[in-house]
Amino acid sequence: MARVYFLLGGNLDDRERILSEAILKMKSEIGELVNCSSIYETEPWGFDHDLNFLNQVVVFDTRLLAEKVLDATQQIEKDLGRVRKKDQYSERTIDIDILFYEDQIISTDRLVVPHPRLQERLFALVPMVDVAPELIHPVEMKSIRELLVECPDEMEVKKFKH
Ligand code: ADP
Ligand code: MG
Repeated sequence: MARVYFLLGGNLDDRERILSEAILKMKSEIGELVNCSSIYETEPWGFDHDLNFLNQVVVFDTRLLAEKVLDATQQIEKDLGRVRKKDQYSERTIDIDILFYEDQIISTDRLVVPHPRLQERLFALVPMVDVAPELIHPVEMKSIRELLVECPDEMEVKKFKH
């Protein structure tokens, strides 16, 4: 079994429902849900969206190899992207990123793990602290808590729901 940490993010449609639908699909396609962070609300990066994002970290135990986990999350992103939104289809209803796969370091065309921008993003580090503050980042060789303290990001990350 491998323990995998995912960051879910979405700013379109019914954001909370999309998060729980993603988790339901991940339970059937990926493995056993072991833990969830609180849900946080953050302002979007860039200027092309006017809706705030919800972010949540979810932890699964899986028998799938990392590449197969990515296949599964990309399929789930597609499926949920097809949810109808006011007479149009939105492409990016949900983003599912793999933050950690055990303590493996992976770097292929399709997959970089640990996620290369994790340590720059409060919206990833804050929910990670909920579920695994002492987890050691296998490249940075620092705990999640240390990475949070050192993170220069100034984005506001508000608790949305426990
Ligand atoms: P982003 O997550 O950066 O906003 P996308 O979700 O569109 O953008 O992902 C772009 C590509 O990132 C995907 O096609 C995927 O192959 C690649 N990728 C590399 N590493 C990871 C990872 N750790 N988790 C998810 N996708 C990844
Ligand atoms: Mg992504």
